[in-house]
Amino acid sequence: MNSVVIRSLFTLIVPGGLVFFATVILLQFSSLKQSVSSLVHIYPSLVAAAGILLGWRFNRSRLVFAILILALADRTLLIFSSGSSGSAGVGLALYNAIAFLLPLNLTALSFTQERGIANVRGLARLGIIFFQVVLVYVICFFPQLGVAGYLNYQPGNSNGLSRLPLALPAMLAFGVAFFLLAMRFIKRETVLENGFFWALLSVFFALAIGKIGNDSTIYFATAGLVLVVSVIETSHSMAFRDELTGIPGRRALDEALLKLTGNYSVAMLDIDFFKKFNDRYGHDVGDQVLRLVASRFAQVSGGGKPYRYGGEEFTVVFPGKTVSETMPHLEKLRKEVAKTRFIVRAGDRRRKKPENPRRVGGPRKRVKITMSIGVAERNQRYGSPPQVIQAADKALYRAKKKGRNRVST
Ligand code: GH3
Ligand code: MG
Ligand code: MG
Repeated sequence: MNSVVIRSLFTLIVPGGLVFFATVILLQFSSLKQSVSSLVHIYPSLVAAAGILLGWRFNRSRLVFAILILALADRTLLIFSSGSSGSAGVGLALYNAIAFLLPLNLTALSFTQERGIANVRGLARLGIIFFQVVLVYVICFFPQLGVAGYLNYQPGNSNGLSRLPLALPAMLAFGVAFFLLAMRFIKRETVLENGFFWALLSVFFALAIGKIGNDSTIYFATAGLVLVVSVIETSHSMAFRDELTGIPGRRALDEALLKLTGNYSVAMLDIDFFKKFNDRYGHDVGDQVLRLVASRFAQVSGGGKPYRYGGEEFTVVFPGKTVSETMPHLEKLRKEVAKTRFIVRAGDRRRKKPENPRRVGGPRKRVKITMSIGVAERNQRYGSPPQVIQAADKALYRAKKKGRNRVST
């Protein structure tokens, strides 16, 4: 399978999907079910505490709001809709109102930006949640208003949908939510958005698959846990991935170098005449090219691991390889980059900050660049990673002096 497809699948499933599937397995196998009753007392509280702590420290208000609405839904259903009380009257109306509002709220949260809590916007969001609580209370406890009847609406019994306990409005809300979150995943692979997708699925299982009681509480807590691990994962990638190119950055390189043992080679790559390139096409086009080149580096052969060293300089580490073993792979990479015509959008040359830096307007253009590479290996003379990097840097300098677009040792 194509490595890009594998990576996309990986980012879709890890970590949110794993947490979700683990919960499904736990709740499906009766031999594991005994642990559920002990889990149900501690699991939701731990998730809520972790979510609120993380949300506060990492300034992730969306996580805090999501935990809040999940906890509200869970506790309300436990009090009013568990057992037989969920099949009629207030219990049924509350169940259908929550099943209608939860998917819409989760989707809205996934589409909003981080704005904090202790400010006007955060308080407005809290106000919207509080307003919904009041609305649900009024609708469900005053059935004479007639709204609860609409929320409980089920199409004819012969319909396959009616086998699920959810009423039609709730099913539609889930349908819309799943559609929007799936589209969001296709457009932009971010861990937290994928987290919202899995959280939504877990909420669906809480309401439509599990019974209201222990099962639904566990599924609600899993929805929260999915979001918690997604926030942790996002923070990890913010620390270790380079923001512009998406490949691992300098901090990741420093850590990888500390872990190296035995033989290894390090290549330093620097784009030729990049200053002129920027002057000619503009800084935005330069940024696009850096992204395209980095995505090509990510597929380097020979077990090389690419990092952005800084600016237009990159490092490829080859664990367990000598310089002569890396040469064919570096040559291949150099030649491929040199012959590629990178398609960029020739943006606005004026030096103003674009509103959306990912999208540079203007017609498409094909541009080419070359790069010079210096490579060195660990040996008796260069025993530590900084020494090997320094030797590779000197080799890079020689490649530049010899006329660029080449690999030097
Ligand atoms: P040489 O062939 O000797 O490497 O020439 P050069 O112009 O590439 O020289 P050098 O490596 O010193 O220049 C680095 C230039 O790369 C300076 C800066 O304009 C550009 N640059 C560094 N980081 C970025 C970046 O993140 N985006 C863009 N667009 N340009 C960058
Ligand atoms: Mg440079
Ligand atoms: Mg350069």
